[in-house]
Formats: sequence, structure tokens, C-alpha cells
Amino acid sequence: MKAVQYREIGKGPEVVEVDVPEPGPGQIRLKVTAAGLCHSDWFVMDLPEEQYIYGLPLTLGHEGAGIVDKLGEGVEGIEVGGSYAVYGPWGCGLCHACSRGAENYCSHAAELGIAPPGLGAPGAMAEYLIVDDKRHLIPLGDLDPVETVSLTDAGLTPYHAIKNALPKLVPGSTAVVIGVGGLGHVGVQIIRAISQARVIALDLSDEKLALAREVGAHDIVVSGPDAAERVRDLTNGLGADVVFDFVGAQPTLDTARAVVAVDGHIEIVGIGGGLLPTGFFSTPFGASARAPYWGTRSELMEVIDLARSGAVSVHVEQFGIDDAVAAYGKLHDGTVRGRAVIVP
Ligand code: NAD
Ligand code: ZN
Repeated sequence: MKAVQYREIGKGPEVVEVDVPEPGPGQIRLKVTAAGLCHSDWFVMDLPEEQYIYGLPLTLGHEGAGIVDKLGEGVEGIEVGGSYAVYGPWGCGLCHACSRGAENYCSHAAELGIAPPGLGAPGAMAEYLIVDDKRHLIPLGDLDPVETVSLTDAGLTPYHAIKNALPKLVPGSTAVVIGVGGLGHVGVQIIRAISQARVIALDLSDEKLALAREVGAHDIVVSGPDAAERVRDLTNGLGADVVFDFVGAQPTLDTARAVVAVDGHIEIVGIGGGLLPTGFFSTPFGASARAPYWGTRSELMEVIDLARSGAVSVHVEQFGIDDAVAAYGKLHDGTVRGRAVIVP
């Protein structure tokens, strides 16, 4: 089968031929219907050798969906032919976090060698994918997998951050969204769908800001040194009750710190390597910050139901598997509108 793999440090993704995997006991094989590209894939592929921990070769793709094609020994209660999305942050299934469905915060995954598909385990960017346990499959029913697959990360991750901040997103509040890419353009829609907050979106390009407007941002601001003042102007000097930073680089975290309101909150979702100084004199009174990771199983069900209701939709640029390298190039250059999705 064809697979998109990262094989050599610094070399970027390649489309290669590999064997079709067999499901072991308890595992399920999916025939992949869609796999999304995430900027985190570039984070992984940009790491220097001494920091790279994901194994080589690595089949990419931590956003996956597929049709159940073969059941491993002992798997029951799931039908061959069913259409599913894959919950990616696999945990041990037994610890406190996992029992709450928060496998993204499993305390044992690392020591047990459990890694998400595409981030250690073979990922979804291939014709077939092995899923380790049926609890990591969320039924899609008649939802289009290509339109839906990115909810598993570009939907779930913002949803997890937004739900945590929801008590602050009351009527009259302001949410600032920095970075309207794959995650951010879904994030804007989720805030609009589950809160009454006013949304101010920041990005670098006119195209991204136009997309922000299209998906529901009330105001748009060009990201940069003047952005904080612009946000203060738009909020009568009060600033943002919640800032969602989907970039996480130093300039955007500086903006987040400059716009967060008294008793406000910052969710640092982007992994751009910036730092937010915390201390009594570094942020307004009462302000808090958090760096969330992915989301929980039940939240993935919720965000898929939100899409089913029509309140949230992913803007998809579709590519065949042979065009995966070009798609990754577009993502790197920042020219994907919404999310790039591979259909093997
Ligand atoms: P993307 O490339 O699709 O989108 C990034 C967006 O940020 C683009 O629209 C880009 O124009 C914009 N941007 C870049 N620099 C900016 C700046 N200085 N000011 C304003 N906007 C700027 O990326 P994505 O796939 O949506 O991922 C976003 C970030 O979230 C990445 O850092 C990714 O690694 C991270 N991520 C984190 C988690 C998590 O669990 N915390 C999960 C998935 C992705
Ligand atoms: Zn991701």
C-alpha cells in the first residue's frame, strides 16, 4: 500500500510503498477514507535529531477516518463496513484520566510506550491504519469522512480549550483568536456555536482574515505589533476575556499578554515555542494561562455532534495521496485555506 512517511531527519515527507498491516489481538484495521495534515507534523519534521522521539520511518497522520475492514482476534461489538473517526491521543485506558475519557492526559502512556497514530504509532496517511482499541473509534454514520476527519484534531483541540474557558465566555465577553488556520478557523465557529462571546480574529494575511470573517468572526485585526492596541480600541480598553493562541510563538504570546483582560484567561494551543512570563507584575490581576493538549473522547463525540447539527464545518482542501508532498508544502508555506486532507 502507499503511505506518507517521514523517513530521514530533515528530509520532509515521502510517498512510499509499504506492506498492508495485519491487526493483532484487540486491534482493528481501517481502510482509510481521509487523513488530515496538521502543522504539528511540521513541528515533528523540523526537530533536530537529538530532540526527535517519534521513531523512523514514521507514517504520518494523526487525524484519521476509515471503514472497518478487518477485526483482530477477540474484537467484538463493532461491524466490518462501519465508518469511524479515530480518537488520536491514545492512553492506557485504566488510569484516572483515561477513565474520565481524558486519554490525552493519560499518566502512563509514555512509560507504556503508547503513542498516537502519526506521532509514534503508524499514522492515517496510508491506505490502511491499525487502531489499537475499539474505544478509539467514534461512529460517523452518514457524515462525509473527508469533511469530518479534521474534527479529530483541528476540531477537538480548540473545543477542549474553549470548553475549559467557557465560564468566562458570557454574553458581553470578548474572545480573541490568534491564527485562523486549520485549528483556528474551526475554533472561531465553536466559540460562536457554544457561547455568546464576541470574536476578534488575528492573522497575518488578508486571505486568512477573510476566512475568519466567513466563519463568524465579528472583527478581524492584522497580527503584529499594533494588534494589541487595536484589540483594546475594539473593547473600550478592557481587552479580551479569553485569548486562544493557535500559534504560540513569541510575538503572538506577547500580543496575548498585552490584550488579556483583568481576570482574563489565555489558552496557549499553538506550539510555536514562545514563553509567557507569569508572575504578579507580568499579567493583569487574576489573569490565568494554560497550555492544553488535544482533547477527551467525549469531547470528540460532542464536536462531531456539533458538526452533525450544522453549527461547525471544516473548510477542506482535498489531495490524493500522491500529492501529499505538495500538500505539506502548502501547509508549510501557510497557503492552505482551512485544512488539507489526503484521500488515499
Ligand atoms: P496552520 O498552519 O493551519 O495555521 C496556523 C495559522 O496561524 C495560519 O493561518 C497562519 O497564517 C497563522 N499565523 C502564523 N503566524 C502568525 C502570527 N504571528 N500572528 C497571527 N497568525 C499567525 O496550523 P494548525 O494546524 O492550525 O496548528 C496551529 C498550531 O497548533 C500549531 O502550532 C500546531 O502545532 C498546534 N497544535 C497544537 C495542538 C495541541 O494539542 N496543543 C494540537 C494540534 C495543533
Ligand atoms: Zn495535530
